Amino acid sequence: MENTLTLALSKGRIFKETLPLLKAAGIEPLDDPETSRKLILDTNHADVKLIIVRASDVPTYVEYGGADIGVAGKDVLLEHPHAELYEPVDLKIACCKLMTAGKANEQQKSGRLKVATKFVESTRRFYAEKGQQVDIIKLYGSMELAPLVGLADRIVDVVDTGNTLRANGLVPMEHIADISSRLVVNKASMKMKHARIQTFIEQVREAVRVQNND
Ligand code: AMP
Repeated sequence: MENTLTLALSKGRIFKETLPLLKAAGIEPLDDPETSRKLILDTNHADVKLIIVRASDVPTYVEYGGADIGVAGKDVLLEHPHAELYEPVDLKIACCKLMTAGKANEQQKSGRLKVATKFVESTRRFYAEKGQQVDIIKLYGSMELAPLVGLADRIVDVVDTGNTLRANGLVPMEHIADISSRLVVNKASMKMKHARIQTFIEQVREAVRVQNND
């Protein structure tokens, strides 16, 4: 819609860490997605709405115009390498690393590896660039379990403190990518609502600079 602005966010860490950046751009939600069941949240601006979607759906909503703008983790964006999106700002929030991991005593595993992950595209690319043939097993969650029950030799997952890996007797092995959340923008919206979106981008960019003392 011509004069509204719709932002797609996921619940949890991304939502919490995006709030101060939205505030810097003068946008404050009127509901809390952690307690409300609403999927469309009103804000202090009648013409700005937030939609709450799964993190992995943010690029899809923004690419196809269900939202003008979104906040998506780089891990998710790497799984959508052909998405037609602008990615104008690194928000430097929800930082972590995409890594391979496995059992501590199996670092030198020989033979063709079985790798369990929900990050199939990044995993495929990582091993292809190393020239290593692997079998990728797609999972949707709890990847840490796969090596423990013999489903896989390695996992590829996002790692922050490493506590989840450690708690399951796994160790991080190879670094694949540094991850942080990015602002993404629908290409048509960028043309049709240019002044408004450009102002928003500049306000968020400035808030990121201030937050990181750059
Ligand atoms: P940690 O135990 O601190 O290494 O956190 C690892 C787990 O937390 C992962 O298995 C993820 O499910 C989740 N996690 C940590 N950081 C992020 C992030 N920036 N984005 C998405 N999930 C994350």
